[in-house]
Amino acid sequence: MVDVSAECNIRVLCRFRPLNQSEILRGDKYIPTFHGDDTVIIGGKLYVFDKVFPTNCTQEQVYNTCAKQIVKDVLDGYNGTIFAYGQTSSGKTYTMEGKLHDPDKRGIIPRIAEDIFNHIYTMDENLEFHIKVSYLEIYMDKICDLLDVSKTHLSVHEDKNRVPYVKGCTERFVSSPEEVMDVIDEGKSNRHVAVTMQYSEISYCFFILEITQCIKTGAEGAVLDEAKNINKSLSALGNVISALAEGTKTHMPYRDSKMTRILQDSLGGNCRTTMFICCSPSAFNDAETKSTLIAKTIKN
Ligand code: ADP
Repeated sequence: MVDVSAECNIRVLCRFRPLNQSEILRGDKYIPTFHGDDTVIIGGKLYVFDKVFPTNCTQEQVYNTCAKQIVKDVLDGYNGTIFAYGQTSSGKTYTMEGKLHDPDKRGIIPRIAEDIFNHIYTMDENLEFHIKVSYLEIYMDKICDLLDVSKTHLSVHEDKNRVPYVKGCTERFVSSPEEVMDVIDEGKSNRHVAVTMQYSEISYCFFILEITQCIKTGAEGAVLDEAKNINKSLSALGNVISALAEGTKTHMPYRDSKMTRILQDSLGGNCRTTMFICCSPSAFNDAETKSTLIAKTIKN
């Protein structure tokens, strides 16, 4: 068994959604079989990941196994990135966002928000946290602000530490998990939906949560030393939600230049990265699923 919570910079996980209603009505065959907790078999071929989540796993299990540790790491000063990859309707949004207002079905982002605030509420009262979120989309090779639709041509710049950031994007300060969910709801309504399924219409979304920690005036001694040791530079928790148009070649999004730049600081040494490969279990999507599973080779 692979310990996916062990220290490791990039982990690649795979999740299969259940057959949906129309697939069941059409009589589609359910094709994956699972072996141990890290292997899925499709058409006699084995695909091995750091962890495989079969259809019946819950949102809570996914979060606890793969994302919870990243919150702790981020509060210790690391950057954390979680992103989902897979064909349209394979479960990326369900994994990353889930049903925001259903506690059992909430996905990774709202659970991260809740966990971060829970940690903060229990921390030393002399420490002060500022949390802000941005929600961006790359569409037709342009960076659009999902929290301000008038901003459709944002560009990536570097700060004085050479960390890339998107200049001029909306940043909302949030003070509770509910406020984070309100921002997601707002941004979702502005996302582009592909009409013709051309490659150019694929949209990639980033939900960025940035935590700044500082000391309230008057803190001294041990508290000050402790806080100095915590990485005071901005910690970013970014989520990339990628959507691939059906019928196009499976393609790792790093090759997109804007994508690469935004991810630049999220794949380096000071980062914990988890990639979810999301798959349909239906025989109807057999070919696409196999080409998606091959994406695991980026791990090597
Ligand atoms: P994508 O974002 O990859 O296009 P979605 O996340 O929107 O796909 O999933 C497509 C549909 O399948 C949605 O109705 C979603 O609720 C459902 N779904 C996806 N994954 C699961 C899952 N693990 N359990 C139950 N329903 C799921």
